Amino acid sequence: MFGGIRIGRLAGIPFLINPTWFLVFALFVFTIATQELPQMIIGEAEWVYWVCAVTVAVLFFGSLVAHELGHSLVSRRFGIPVLSITLYLFGGVAQIGKEVRRAREELLIALAGPAVSLALGGLFWGVGDLIFAWRPLAGVVLQLAGLLNIVVLLFNLVPGFPLDGGRVLRAAIWGLRGDYLEATKVASVSGQMIGALFIAGGIFLIFTQSDLGAFWMVLIGWFLISMARTSYSQAHVQDALQRHKASDVMESLIEVSALLTADELYSGYLRTTGKQFYLALMYDRPAGVVTAHMVERIPRSVWGITPLALLMRPIESIPVVRADQSCQEALLGMEQARSEWLQVTEHGHPVGIVTRAAVLSLLYPGRQL
Ligand SMILES: [Zn+2]
Repeated sequence: MFGGIRIGRLAGIPFLINPTWFLVFALFVFTIATQELPQMIIGEAEWVYWVCAVTVAVLFFGSLVAHELGHSLVSRRFGIPVLSITLYLFGGVAQIGKEVRRAREELLIALAGPAVSLALGGLFWGVGDLIFAWRPLAGVVLQLAGLLNIVVLLFNLVPGFPLDGGRVLRAAIWGLRGDYLEATKVASVSGQMIGALFIAGGIFLIFTQSDLGAFWMVLIGWFLISMARTSYSQAHVQDALQRHKASDVMESLIEVSALLTADELYSGYLRTTGKQFYLALMYDRPAGVVTAHMVERIPRSVWGITPLALLMRPIESIPVVRADQSCQEALLGMEQARSEWLQVTEHGHPVGIVTRAAVLSLLYPGRQL
């Protein structure tokens, strides 16, 4: 949803523009040039309105970027990296690298954006007001940009996730109750309710006023609901992955001699235990891991003459996760190694295997993967 065309860097943070944004920019300039400005200042040439409209749009979208930069710089101050800033359909999004650890940090990061909008709104409006008598057109352009910043400020302070107000709400509940997941849930439900209100209000206006602008309200409402739901499920996933250790979901390794043949492994272990993973020992030391799949892959006619030493994946080549590390770290390890499973070690000794399917089964309990 937040993909985009890379434009460059801002304070070292990649800055992207989502393709949908260009449409919004064009629509925005069109509305200001043909409807808003001609009503505010009468009798200017058409091209003057267009130049002013583009100026308002640049100031406005520049302000949105500054708003996101506000979140980003505070976040970075707390040591939380910012992956990118993207301008999309309704505004900006700063993608933060990892979840915030403390409620107070979340609160300050959430407030930094609205603080920038407030400052810019006040500045544009104030300067616009000052120069209005002398340069009415420039004054109106600045006042419009100021007004839009205040609209962004008010919209973002609505207390529903993922808006800044929702983040403030989450930080407050999190700080008071100490439960991050519960706080996220409340803020997410609140965000969904506000989204539903937007949709209901939009539909009401479409039918009573036949106002096409109300379609935007419906769209924003729908967007809020889907964002709030995604944010909660992401928090839920993070929480489950962090709470469980690799040892919670590992399948223990059964030790066998690397000199056993595939046939012996099958008749002595695989058929009777049904276990998938075996630790092949050479001179009593772990040499590799053999899986049921590795045995099944070779023709049955050669099982009797194929020692496990030939089949196994050498132990040094298998990525490692410690038994006390979290499932999140295990999943990350699999992603980095592009492997479907890892060995779990205790005091440096392999004791089990964690598979991607086992980690994912945490997230969807009751569903077989
Ligand atoms: Zn914000």
